[in-house]
Amino acid sequence: MSGPEFSQMKVGVLGGGQLGRMLALGGIPLGMEFRFLDPNAGAGAGQTGNLVVGAYDGTGALERFAEGLDVATFEFENVPDSSAAFLQERLPVFPSPEALRVSQDRLREKTFFRSLGADVPLFAGVTSAEELVEAEKDLGLPFVLKTRRFGYDGKGQSVLRSSEDVKRACSRPLEGPMIAEAHVRFDRELSVVAVRSRSGETAVYPLIENHHRAGILRLSIAPAPDISQALQRQAEKLALMTLEALDYVGVLAIELFQQGNRRLVNEMAPRVHNSGHWTIEGAVCSQFENHVRAICGLALGSTHAHMSSAMVNIVGHLPDVEALLRLPGAHVHLYGKAPRPGRKIGHITVLAPDHASLVEKIAQVQALLPQGHASS
Ligand code: AMP
Repeated sequence: MSGPEFSQMKVGVLGGGQLGRMLALGGIPLGMEFRFLDPNAGAGAGQTGNLVVGAYDGTGALERFAEGLDVATFEFENVPDSSAAFLQERLPVFPSPEALRVSQDRLREKTFFRSLGADVPLFAGVTSAEELVEAEKDLGLPFVLKTRRFGYDGKGQSVLRSSEDVKRACSRPLEGPMIAEAHVRFDRELSVVAVRSRSGETAVYPLIENHHRAGILRLSIAPAPDISQALQRQAEKLALMTLEALDYVGVLAIELFQQGNRRLVNEMAPRVHNSGHWTIEGAVCSQFENHVRAICGLALGSTHAHMSSAMVNIVGHLPDVEALLRLPGAHVHLYGKAPRPGRKIGHITVLAPDHASLVEKIAQVQALLPQGHASS
C-alpha cells in the first residue's frame, strides 16, 4: 500500500460510543492508533484512543480531529453532510458521504434499494395530511409511519392500525418529512453484514437472525438457523450489489424481513452493526477488524463463523456481572455507559457447536438479565 505503514495508521472515528470503542479494539492489535470526535467528554471510546471533545459540526473541533489522521470513518450515520464534506477535503473518508446520504433518509434509501431491483415493502413519502390519507389507500392498514431522518431503535415511528389512527395522525402536525411503509407480517428478521476494501475486495458474513423488542435489538443468532444455501447466496448477492452501487468501502449491514420465500429490505446501516457483534468471538475476523482493514486499504480477513454464536444485548440495567462471568464460555462486553431505560450498555456472546446447545446457553444468559431482558 502507499502512504504510511499500516502499523502506524492513524484512524479517526466520528462518534465515541461503543462502536468506536470496538473499532479501536479491532485495530489496535494491528498497530493502529485511534482518535474520536464526540460532544460527550465521558464517551466510552476515550478509553481506547484519543478523544477530541466537540460538536460534529464545529469547524474548530473537526480541524483538531482531522489533524494528522490517515483516514476517517463514522460509527453512526447521522453525521452532518457539511462535516463529512469538510473531512473529505482533508483526508480519505470511508464510507463515502454518498453512502451516508442514502442511509440518512429512509425515503431515499427505499428508493435506492428498489432501483437495485431489491424487494422492499410498499412505501410512500408523506409530507401532509392529504398524503397520509393517500398512503392509507395505497398501502392498506396497518401501515408504519416513520420519520425520514434520525430514526433509530424504533424511535420516530408508529404503527397506524385503523382509520381512526390515521385521522388522529392527520390532526397533529407531522414530525417532519415522513415515510409510510406497508406493515410487513414477517416470519423473522435477518441481517447481512458485508465488507468491501479500498481495492474492491469483498467478503460477507453468514446471515444473522435478529430478535427485537420495543424496536430495540435484544438477541442475534449467527449463522441464522434454517438458512438454505440459495438464501445465503441471495443475501450475498444483494449485499455485493449494494456495495458496488455505492462504491462502498468499509462494513455495511442490511436489515431484512423474511416473509415466506420473500426477503424484503428494511434498511441499511453504513457502519459496523449491533447484529454483527458476535463476530468478535464467533468469526475468524471480526466486523470491527474488517472495517479498519477495509478503510486502511489492507487485505480483508475471513468472515467464516467458528460455530453457532448468539449475542444478547444488555439493555437498560446493569446485570449481575459476576454471575455472567461465571457462565462457562460467556464473553461479557460492557461499554462504560451509565444505565438508562432502553439504552444498550453492553452485550454477551456465547458460542456452541450446534443450535440446540446454543439455545440452552442463551437461556442461561437471559436468566441472568431479568430486568434487562424482560422489561427495559
Ligand atoms: P427500523 O428503525 O426501521 O429498523 O425499525 C425498527 C423495528 O421496527 C424493525 O426492526 C422491525 O421490527 C419494526 N419495523 C420497521 N418497519 C417495519 C415494517 N414496515 N413492517 C413491520 N415491522 C417494521
